[in-house]
Amino acid sequence: MVTYGYSCHRCGNFDVRLPIGTAPVEYVCPDCAAVARRVYSSPALSVPSKLLKGLHEQEEQSRESPSVVSGPPPTRCGSASVHPAIASLPRP
Ligand SMILES: [Zn+2]
Repeated sequence: MVTYGYSCHRCGNFDVRLPIGTAPVEYVCPDCAAVARRVYSSPALSVPSKLLKGLHEQEEQSRESPSVVSGPPPTRCGSASVHPAIASLPRP
């Protein structure tokens, strides 16, 4: 469903939700039953944040030329704490 805008010469603008591609050029105003003309407006697009834009660029670069991984990623010293119960688990 897409929101289409119409303008009634008596009541002003109103929106109608219709399946995509089915919006007629004229629509009956729900308030006064007059013929309203379709109004075209810009789509509701948004500008992505720098973080999201960076993640998209990183994902596209990885898709074109994925990096070769030969081991687990390096751990950050002191940032990851290991639960003390893990030390008591049996080892192979
Ligand atoms: Zn109207």
